[in-house]
Amino acid sequence: MPSRESAAPHDQNYLLRDLEVTPVRFRLNPRAAPPAAGLDATIAAFVRDHPGATMNDLRTYVPGFGEGPYEAARAVLTRLVSTRILVLDGQVPLEELDLRYERVACCDVCGESSATHAVVFWKHNTPVVRCAGCGLLYANPRWKAEYLFGRYTDDYWELYRDKVSATATDPVANQARWDPVLTDLAQALPAGRILDVGCATGEFLLAAQARGWAIQGLESSPIGAEQARQTTSGPIYCGTLEIAPYEDASLDVVTLWDVIEHLQSPRAYLERIARLIRPGGLFALTTPNIRSLPYALLGRDWEIVGPNDHLYYFAPRTLARLLARTGFAIHSMRTQTSGATVWRQWLRRPALQGLAPGLHAVTWPVLDRLLLGDELYVIARRRED
Ligand SMILES: [Zn+2]
Repeated sequence: MPSRESAAPHDQNYLLRDLEVTPVRFRLNPRAAPPAAGLDATIAAFVRDHPGATMNDLRTYVPGFGEGPYEAARAVLTRLVSTRILVLDGQVPLEELDLRYERVACCDVCGESSATHAVVFWKHNTPVVRCAGCGLLYANPRWKAEYLFGRYTDDYWELYRDKVSATATDPVANQARWDPVLTDLAQALPAGRILDVGCATGEFLLAAQARGWAIQGLESSPIGAEQARQTTSGPIYCGTLEIAPYEDASLDVVTLWDVIEHLQSPRAYLERIARLIRPGGLFALTTPNIRSLPYALLGRDWEIVGPNDHLYYFAPRTLARLLARTGFAIHSMRTQTSGATVWRQWLRRPALQGLAPGLHAVTWPVLDRLLLGDELYVIARRRED
């Protein structure tokens, strides 16, 4: 099936688009009579001495096997397997094949061993698996942190600045964008000390400041943090949450907008956030909703699915379980629906595109009532225990 995804220019260094399955290993069949001479005999002897060898090993180390076309080499190995001289011996794990990858040992939400978690789909050469214990979808094996964060280069911030420019340069539009969230927070808790983790260039904090909150921001990118310092008057810490100098129970509210899906361990991160919020304080977050109409319609082609960037795909149930495990009680859980884009993607044909806004208008109230919208939006309270 042709993929409808398209690579943004800044993505190209991060994708290996030619590998959707990992190569197989070969072993010599001990019950077969080995070939007497020729290339077949050399290959059989190499595999006998190197059980688990791959096609790449054979083409690299067996004289005369690596020079010809790949298809011819594959035909030789296929014949040796079909005549039972060689047998297949499993696949090469992705993390052995490509050193940018690491394998996660257990589910971050429920702790079940990842050994039995089946692949749901591949995208960008990375498998997304489902935890058999709690249903969480997550990338495994996945890119190591140093490669993930390599994405947030100057180019990324150029694009991000363009994306937020309409609201960032217009305080009235920015306030209108964030006022519904700030009203939700104010109804649950009078204004106090708020920390936005992953504050990017500071637009949410600017709106919170205008509503009387004492603001602080944390941003790991120096470019984003510097911009946030110019946007707001609150202290902006540039670094990671793990080493940020915040005292335990010192905050009334922590917000985490569209961050959790990028983290190596959401559980460890939320445990840290739980320590920073005073008992009874609030934690608000958003993350894409994998149990949503867009995912049901588009599957892995949905634009938010990109496992070299979004490592975790939460649904209402898995997010609720993670929050309960890390010391939070849910105050409210809703979904948001961003617009008609998903319908346009689903309709495909230009002649049908005009139907997208109508479909969106009819479906979104129902979707949000059933928690099937694009994005989960949760306000949780720090438990007293
Ligand atoms: Zn699980």
